[in-house]
Amino acid sequence: MTARVLVVDDIPANVKLLEARLMAEYFQVITASNGYDAIELCERDQCDIVLLDVMMPEMDGFEVCSRLKSNPKTMHIPIVMVTALDQPSDRVRGLECGADDFLTKPVNDLALTTRVKSLVRLKLVTDELRMRAASGETMDIDPLTSAEQINNSSIRGKIVMIDDRVSSYERMVKYLSREHDVEVITDPQEALFRVAESNYDVVMVSMTLDGFDSLRLCSQLRSLERTRSLPILVVANDDQESQISRALEMGVNDYISRPLDKNELLARIRTQIRRKRYNDCLKDSVQNTIEMAVTDGLTGLHNRRYLDSHLATLFEKARVKKSPLSTIMCDIDHFKKVNDTYGHDVGDEVIREFAERLKKCVRSVDLASRYGGEEFVVVMPDTDVALASIVAERIRASIADHPFIVEKGAKQLTVTISIGVSSIEPDDEDPQKLLKRADIGLYAAKKNGRNQVMLEAA
Ligand code: GH3
Ligand code: MG
Ligand code: MG
Repeated sequence: MTARVLVVDDIPANVKLLEARLMAEYFQVITASNGYDAIELCERDQCDIVLLDVMMPEMDGFEVCSRLKSNPKTMHIPIVMVTALDQPSDRVRGLECGADDFLTKPVNDLALTTRVKSLVRLKLVTDELRMRAASGETMDIDPLTSAEQINNSSIRGKIVMIDDRVSSYERMVKYLSREHDVEVITDPQEALFRVAESNYDVVMVSMTLDGFDSLRLCSQLRSLERTRSLPILVVANDDQESQISRALEMGVNDYISRPLDKNELLARIRTQIRRKRYNDCLKDSVQNTIEMAVTDGLTGLHNRRYLDSHLATLFEKARVKKSPLSTIMCDIDHFKKVNDTYGHDVGDEVIREFAERLKKCVRSVDLASRYGGEEFVVVMPDTDVALASIVAERIRASIADHPFIVEKGAKQLTVTISIGVSSIEPDDEDPQKLLKRADIGLYAAKKNGRNQVMLEAA
């Protein structure tokens, strides 16, 4: 794995030292000698991770870190503080500024490469989501704005702890339970199943389980679909450096060493929860984008693009199973007059209300879509022409029999629709034939006086 690492330090010799080590591991390195330059490089999306010196004149590392982490453009970039200070209070201060990890000078080579690799790997996931979220042309929420909301929102999380030592987990529960909801699983054999069954924000795994391989559990959590992206924080003894490295290599998100510092634990958990919320929010946004690409904005029905692709699938299924398939095509009568008389907004209200009534008349397996302006198509699997006609008549009546109430009750309109119905024929080769025939039926219904249902053949 290669990545571009930004090394920030005011002392050139320190920069050189880290640069040489990182290049030996085939990382690309860019450098900055002060916080302002560092922020600018990050904003221009020039790096995958920042190694940040704490002691710098003008703007110190804590300040640079806070600024990067509160800036929507840069908050997803992992930051490792590099410091000569190794007092827990300094670590905590850095973590509270949003730093993802710490390295103490002189920097240990193994620690350096495992931390960098593990954080870059985690960032790849976020990058992928960011890219997909940003590529949605018609995105309704800006992932960057919502990311900002995450920073300000509650980070109360649901944490599960897998630990078989009473004194160990009792202490952690005491530390965490004021800020979070904490559960403990003392039998590691049950852990995988229970974690997969529930919706936790963070899972903590003790690295000193009695007669049980904690790393195996971590690797199982990573490979199971349900828990693949769940943040894992391992709790290790301070002589377990090589196990920590292994854990990070297999995708564990973070670690903390005993003896535990309460504030450090709280800060690390907070970071995990914040990152999870951020990724969840990106995922939602991607999901929304996908949904919006196939949904009509005015009515919430499927759009024509979705209809076309899904009709082909339903058509194939019906042919293979030799089961019936019908379509209904509806068009609002004299809709132009509604617009001309009451305005376009009232026209929109009518379309929306029509769609609501239409939804109530069809089953959930039926595919109801907005085909064009005031034209709608319903595709009904396992439905023959007789049944489809009954449904069509039900739709027609649900529109014509009750006036449309618009402008918040100020006006009542009588609306009618015309409908064409068609069914699959044995020699149909193309789903478009089905639509074509429904359209012929619709045209006949219009010609015959509107507000009625006509079959293709009529
Ligand atoms: P017919 O009974 O023959 O169907 O007559 P019609 O007036 O309904 O049909 P026509 O195709 O002449 O006009 C349809 C109108 O629907 C024209 C178009 O401006 C309007 N329309 C299409 N989409 C929308 C929309 O999203 N909102 C509104 N308000 N009007 C729309
Ligand atoms: Mg310095
Ligand atoms: Mg019309």
